[in-house]
Amino acid sequence: MTGMPDLSRRQFLSATAAGYAALSLGARAPAAQSEGGAVAVSSANGLEAVRTAWEGMSQGGRPVDAAVAGVNLVERDPNDLSVGYGGLPNENGVVELDAAVMDGPTHNAGAVASLRGIKTPSQVALRVMRRTDHVLLVGQGALEFARAHGFQEENLLTERSRKLWLYWKERRSDRDDWFPPSDEELAEDPILRNERPPGTIHLSARNESGDFGCVTTTSGLAFKIPGRVGDSPLIGDGLYLDNEVGSAGSTGRGEAVILSCGSFAIVERMRSGRTPEQACHDILERIVDQSRRNGLADDQGRPSFNVRFYALSKDGKYAGASMYSGGKFAVADAAGARLEEGSFLFQRG
Ligand code: ASP
Repeated sequence: MTGMPDLSRRQFLSATAAGYAALSLGARAPAAQSEGGAVAVSSANGLEAVRTAWEGMSQGGRPVDAAVAGVNLVERDPNDLSVGYGGLPNENGVVELDAAVMDGPTHNAGAVASLRGIKTPSQVALRVMRRTDHVLLVGQGALEFARAHGFQEENLLTERSRKLWLYWKERRSDRDDWFPPSDEELAEDPILRNERPPGTIHLSARNESGDFGCVTTTSGLAFKIPGRVGDSPLIGDGLYLDNEVGSAGSTGRGEAVILSCGSFAIVERMRSGRTPEQACHDILERIVDQSRRNGLADDQGRPSFNVRFYALSKDGKYAGASMYSGGKFAVADAAGARLEEGSFLFQRG
């Protein structure tokens, strides 16, 4: 889950870029390694998802299928505002979903972007991988493909998501004709005061034989410009795997992950011998540097956004690492499903 900018992009672009402090590296977790067997790693909203994925692999399921079965729980959950049903909509109030899957043994992938009306975009992505010669379908084409495969179209906007969107829209400007919500309306639910809650789920899975599968699924940036696609459905950005090396994925500011080819870069770092945690930190540091060049760093040289990476290596080492402190990630292996503290570059606050 992710990336709340502390300041708006506009504020950052107009801020002075002078006087960057030297990078003060934050906490590194002790190297985490599962004791052989299957292992699944995900963002913190995936505690039940990793448990399901691990069980699926333990019963002989293919890692990519087990991973998708795990994230389907979150896609169907109306209380997760960042994925599938109940996900926050675009600026017009329409939920647009992005998802992608990768399969280790075949090095194949499938993805959908800006898909409307289908609760489980990760399953549509699986079909794209298995039933077409393509990797990515978008918008109307993705919807028609889902319909052809018998997926049910449903209204994905819950009352909670609609209110969050409406109150965001009403508070956006004092130069339009929309009046802001009342304090009583905002007091109904604490989340309604949170203007743009972030989130996504990534899940990387490795079975006992060392084969990988992974998935990332999201409703994307809350209240995005219609048609905006983030990192999640882009192979190499929001997820990537190489069956000989490992798997990685991201949540957080998708634009920064796209500009760094984040997940691909992490897998390549692991290929050259870096541990999952070192590889995640290498790319977080690269993103810090890039944010200084593209106007998204504050006057101490820290990015205005959060990014989180998750990585799992062939030998069962795993990591969750973020730009800012305060992040956990979910893991399931023979020791059970649990949330672990992630490492980070910068202490928040
Ligand atoms: N990475 C997602 C996107 O940019 C959003 C998030 O994880 O908060 O679409």
